[in-house]
Amino acid sequence: MKIHKGDTIKIINGKDKGKTGKVLKILIKKNKVLVDGLNLYKKHVRPKNQGEKGEVVSVPRPMDVSNVMIFCSACSKAVKVGYRSDAGKKIRICKKCGAAV
Ligand SMILES: [Zn+2]
Repeated sequence: MKIHKGDTIKIINGKDKGKTGKVLKILIKKNKVLVDGLNLYKKHVRPKNQGEKGEVVSVPRPMDVSNVMIFCSACSKAVKVGYRSDAGKKIRICKKCGAAV
């Protein structure tokens, strides 16, 4: 997978299209990513003790990796990534501007 944990991505499809966020988790088997504060859904939390009120919290839901693209801060847009080897190390670069992403 080209996207790694901690990457900044842009959503290119779905209800949060155009938003950017940071990748919290990669679900390799499901081909999904979990992005901080995006693709939220409301979850009802039951009260822990009697007499307390239940709460509604917003929780990010994993989304398909095909709906996100790496966001290049140099280009300020979603870009395709390429690879370049630097002193034997493979690094990811923005295909547009060549900056490491
Ligand atoms: Zn770029």
